[in-house]
Amino acid sequence: MIRLDGLGKRYPDGTVAVDSLDMGVGRGELIALVGPSGCGKSTTLRMVNRLIEPTSGRIVLDGDDVTKVSTVQLRRRIGYVIQQVGLFPHLTVGANVATVPRLLGWEKGRTRERTAEMLDLVGLPAGTYADRYPHELSGGQQQRIGVARGLAADPDVLLMDEPFGAVDPIARDRLQGEFRRIQSDLHKTVLFVTHDIDEAVRLADKIAVFSEGGRLEQLADPASVLGAPANQFVADFVGSDRGLRRLAVQPVEEQDLVQPPVVRLADRAADARAAVDRAPEGYAVVVDDAGDLRGYVGGPALAQAPGDAAVEDVARRFGETVELGTYLRVALSELVRHDAGWLPVVAGDRYLGVLTPEAVYAALRRTVPGDGGVDAEQERPLLKAV
Ligand code: ADP
Repeated sequence: MIRLDGLGKRYPDGTVAVDSLDMGVGRGELIALVGPSGCGKSTTLRMVNRLIEPTSGRIVLDGDDVTKVSTVQLRRRIGYVIQQVGLFPHLTVGANVATVPRLLGWEKGRTRERTAEMLDLVGLPAGTYADRYPHELSGGQQQRIGVARGLAADPDVLLMDEPFGAVDPIARDRLQGEFRRIQSDLHKTVLFVTHDIDEAVRLADKIAVFSEGGRLEQLADPASVLGAPANQFVADFVGSDRGLRRLAVQPVEEQDLVQPPVVRLADRAADARAAVDRAPEGYAVVVDDAGDLRGYVGGPALAQAPGDAAVEDVARRFGETVELGTYLRVALSELVRHDAGWLPVVAGDRYLGVLTPEAVYAALRRTVPGDGGVDAEQERPLLKAV
């Protein structure tokens, strides 16, 4: 969709913001550009829509060299969302969202319809908000208007420069969640600059880690950047707590689960006791004939039950289960809330195994590459602490 070929920018004062950047962005892909301040992220972004003219190289958008396309045409294909929104203060919210369609000469009815649709999309219905002025909105709401404006002309590509950088952490969390929802519907091709590695991990399909001069140190999915940093620069940038960050992108998988004894509803309590006694866990999971999760047995309730009682009569239900594919971070937080330190994992109703803190640890270890990555020795004690 987008290809940057040897792209470079030398400012008139001689600063080489971006030396020679080669990078590809697939259709519908969201790539987060991260890296220390001044490494050329914003310059790169602004070269794509030619707010900044490159001094070398090419940008190819869907096969077209965009250095040869008129900027008006280009802006129709590329939406732009920036920090502190850049809303026009003297224009209503509706007029702000309609900026690009108007510039493009859309017919009035169509512009109005599209504006209302975009306001709905970002959760600020036109009936209530279209006639307000930006200063009558909270920071988070203004930021949403920025997103609505960026999407108004239905561009193929969206460029976002720290779009949620200026709001408080709670509003930011909500904006990120909403933007994920919007992106999962629209599948825009997005380049997203952020200084917040957690935001990148949460939103991006791939993370591009830059060092000074717009040097691309690694371009990979978040789990790989965190689990297998390409070099020391990337490892340092994503932080020594990247093991913990990986919890946010690593799903619960079947191979990591613990398998305690399993008994059936119709089994006798005596048999369940024998099964529990043979295993280290101290409990057994109860399933029905279809393999669906029905509860667990163990502890005094099982010890004191008559031997010929049915498991069904002594089984206890689970308050919580974890769905296969849940991110480890969410699963771990459920585990922490749950006294026993283990939770059953299901796909629908079907029982698959048990998640324990050790299983979480095993999952994180499994995803560290064979050679242990850049400094796996530093990371191990951290993972153990999980
Ligand atoms: P980032 O977005 O990663 O923080 P920028 O792309 O804004 O980085 O800046 C990259 C480098 O280019 C920095 O050294 C910055 O000081 C420099 N720079 C940015 N804009 C200009 C400009 N208009 N003139 C000269 N140097 C600039």
